[in-house]
This record gives sequence, structure tokens and C-alpha cells, in this order.
Amino acid sequence: MNIRNKFFAADKINDHVTRISGMGGEKAFLIEGKERACLFDGCSGVGSLKAFVRELTELPVFMVLSHAHPDHCGAAFEYGACFMHPDDIGLLYTEFASGAEGRLGYDNNSWSEVEKLTTGTMADVVPAHAIKTYPCYDGDVFDLGGRRLEVIAVPGHTRGSIVLLDREDRILYSADAINPNTLFGMIGSTTIEEYRESVLHLKEFQGDFDLMYGGHNPDPQTPKIIDDALMLCDRIMAGEDDQIETVDMISKKKVYVAAKRGENFMPEYGGESNIVYQKDRVFGKKGNAVLSGEPFIG
Ligand SMILES: [Zn+2]
Repeated sequence: MNIRNKFFAADKINDHVTRISGMGGEKAFLIEGKERACLFDGCSGVGSLKAFVRELTELPVFMVLSHAHPDHCGAAFEYGACFMHPDDIGLLYTEFASGAEGRLGYDNNSWSEVEKLTTGTMADVVPAHAIKTYPCYDGDVFDLGGRRLEVIAVPGHTRGSIVLLDREDRILYSADAINPNTLFGMIGSTTIEEYRESVLHLKEFQGDFDLMYGGHNPDPQTPKIIDDALMLCDRIMAGEDDQIETVDMISKKKVYVAAKRGENFMPEYGGESNIVYQKDRVFGKKGNAVLSGEPFIG
């Protein structure tokens, strides 16, 4: 089954999970149980994802946000409610996360493997407003009726980043928390030292999944990415990573890519993890970057 309109494209990864791509290639996942469906992430909010999802399932749908970034939070403003980790709520209401121009710019300007059928306009953007945010924490479980999704907190890319584990399907839905281009030059990111602790926690679940579907990559990763991420954290903290200097697209600050990129943006060393970080945010616990009044970026 492939369904699409001019804003979204959907394909099934199994008989009860639909992957939805926005125009910038950002991914949301509709996971159906017997009684209800979970929409994990909401793309950027260009076009109505809520209307698109209504074409995909008859079940009642609730939303869970992996983290409060502009390319993930869009449909939360249509549903008016979502589960998310409280540590990202402050971030959700920043101009960076929910501003309409930034979300539109993401979908119009991002590279994407999804063929774009339109160029979005401001009239297509779901406007941001205050919504009901229900807290979810590490260890919480969403019961869909015959299917359970377990919350694992992975602070790093943002302080409130969570991933979902389906033990029965042996799938981890990881959004931006761990992937071949994990970004730490972002608003709300933790230090690398803190992220290493999170990856160690995620490693407790390494034997519980075979495939890991992220928030952007077209192809799933494997559990080995956890070992690769730990290795890169160690190299960064020892000052022994590749340190490829580049500029963060959003903050325009100097950032470093931990492992040299090869074909298809994948790291040249053959592993699955890569990390983009700022040198002054490697060590220590800096607290919540948004709520502490620290500069958002850099
Ligand atoms: Zn993100």
C-alpha cells in the first residue's frame, strides 16, 4: 500500500505500522493496536497530517512526540494534545520549534528522498498554539490493545528525547535520538558526556529489537548503532574523533562531525552512528538549555 497526497507519502513497514514522510523527508509512524493507534511524531505541520491519518485508520488516534523540534511537532497543533517528555515542553514553545516560517522552510528546503508534489505556502502551515501536553517518562507503556509501546528516555539530541520500543515486533522507533547524523549543535541538546549515559541506558534494550526506524533516514538501522554511538562518544571525549569542521545549518555556529562521511552521508568507518557536536558542549551537565536561560545555540 502506498498512499500519498501533495504533502505526505505513506508506506507500510508491516501490517499494522505505517510510515509517513513529510515533504522534507521527516518521518512519523502510525502504529495500530486492536483498540487505538499511536501517531509517533507529527512531521512539520505543512498540510493536514490529521486528515491524512484519518484515511489510514478507523481507530482513535493519540499522539506521542519524540522531541520538540520543528520537523516533528507539527501535527500536535492539529490534535491539540500529545504525550511528550516534560523536559521538552519549554522547547516546544520557542520560535525555533513551533514558528510557522521555520517549519515551512524545513519542508520546502530540505533534501528529501520523497518526491515533492508541491511547494508549501504559509496558508498550508498548521498554526502553533498552546496544547495539552501529557507527561511520559522512561519506563511508561502505551497500551494500544494487543500491542504495547515502551518509552525509553534518551536525553541528548534534546533533553526530552524519547524513543519507543515494540518488543513483540522487535522494532525501536528512535526519531532523532540516535542515527547516522545525530545532531548536538541544536537548541536544547545535552553535552556528549550526558548523551553517553543515555546511550548506555539504551544499550540495556539492545537485545530487544532487530530494526531501528529513525526520524529521517529512509532505511532502518540495526542494534549495532548503539555500540557505534558509544565508541564515538568515547572518541569525542578523548579528543580522538575525526573532528571534521563544518557549520550548523540553523545556528551558523562551528560544529564538528565526529566521523568522516562517506557515501550517502554514512560514516566512512563502516558503522551506523555519527555525531555532530560543539566543542564547548562535550563535558559536564549543563542543565536544560532552554529553561536555564543559557544561549539556545552555541
Ligand atoms: Zn530533532
